[in-house]
Amino acid sequence: MAKIICVLYDDPVGGYPKTYARDDVPQPKIYPDGQTLPTPRAIDFKPGALLGSVSGELGLRRYLESNGHQLIVTSSKDGADSVLDRELPDAEIVISQPFWPAYMTAERIAKAKKLQMIVTAGIGSDHTDLQAAMKHNVTVAEVTYCNSNAVAEHVVMSILALVRNFVPSHHIILNGGWNIADAVSRSYDLEAMQVGTVAAGRIGLRVLRLLKPFDVGLHYMDRHRLPEAVEKELNLTFHANLESLAKVCDVVTLNCPLHPETEHMINERTLKFFKRGAYIVNTARGKLVETDAIVRALTDGHIAGYAGDVWFPQPAPQDHPWRKMPHHAMTPHISGTSLSAQTRYAAGVREILECYFEGRPIRNEYLIVQGGQLAGVGAHSYSEGNATKGSEEAARFAAA
Ligand code: NDP
Repeated sequence: MAKIICVLYDDPVGGYPKTYARDDVPQPKIYPDGQTLPTPRAIDFKPGALLGSVSGELGLRRYLESNGHQLIVTSSKDGADSVLDRELPDAEIVISQPFWPAYMTAERIAKAKKLQMIVTAGIGSDHTDLQAAMKHNVTVAEVTYCNSNAVAEHVVMSILALVRNFVPSHHIILNGGWNIADAVSRSYDLEAMQVGTVAAGRIGLRVLRLLKPFDVGLHYMDRHRLPEAVEKELNLTFHANLESLAKVCDVVTLNCPLHPETEHMINERTLKFFKRGAYIVNTARGKLVETDAIVRALTDGHIAGYAGDVWFPQPAPQDHPWRKMPHHAMTPHISGTSLSAQTRYAAGVREILECYFEGRPIRNEYLIVQGGQLAGVGAHSYSEGNATKGSEEAARFAAA
């Protein structure tokens, strides 16, 4: 019998939903690169249900308990008194979502003597100390592609919200006003702007494709170059580094994983590369950006707007400076956890667990760490090391 801890975000303030806004949840048949959607043997949930909160349990309880395993589901994840810390010593598997991450630091991994696997229900395993996972031979897996396109939609929405000044204009209406000049004095067209993505992986490339019909100039930087045919099709300009990209772009969106190579890549020094009045959209990870540097750049007007949904740590403490900085269009971390995406990643977690318990190989594209080293997607997109430092700050939200 295995003990599985599943850390999920809290239920809605008004209680777990009894009905939903829609009756069906359309799904793609296949991902754009030909990868199949998750293929568990079965699922025990209704597609479209809220699965990412505590009562949703990622739809796993019946499957796990009927196979004799113990499932602990909790939102209590930060601080020494958390349920996660209490239950860790004899846990075999820890599952969490990046939206409400169980920070699996070296200390926690060392304490979890029976730990075999850490699963990210979503994409992005930077909340796990990957170096420590390698050292302790713990497998790290995530559900690659499950919400990449969902995030790309959020990126496009955020770019438009910033450039067209949507959020302040909406607030004018909520406040009973009608001052057109107030609304438009920071409003522009996206058409003809230069838009660049840092990383053209699953999300970055999707963003480029979605933006093509807006008649913008498209730019990207990445560690590996896209095929020539794709560069031609989208009329892309490749940049070897951030400086070259930022110098020519009106909008820059960050779409790379967080790992030691990318941590704080947007900082006091690199912000100087950006054009005055540029917009930055970051749905990748909060720690790609130096918190105070972006606040200063927005306050002094060098950067015209910042949007995205990722913070560090998560949940962001109530006094996190990004909550109150000027010209932002931030949300809590939601872009990859639409009900549509939850259906896919809950099925993906089920697939990973079935493989684990039946002794079948986990898909290579789901692997980040295995056998003491980076593996699968992890070997391609991450670098060795640890990006969890400072995550203990998340306890300040719970304490407030
Ligand atoms: P992919 O693995 O498909 O793409 C990541 C890309 O980043 C790869 O092309 C990789 O390059 C590139 N990359 C890695 N390091 C660097 C670097 N130092 N400089 C430039 N490019 C780099 O992942 P996805 O596109 O699906 O997701 C990307 C990230 O987005 C996730 O890791 C996660 O952090 C975040 N995310 C956020 C979500 C949300 O809800 N907000 C949901 C899903 C993901 P290469 O492989 O060529 O080395």
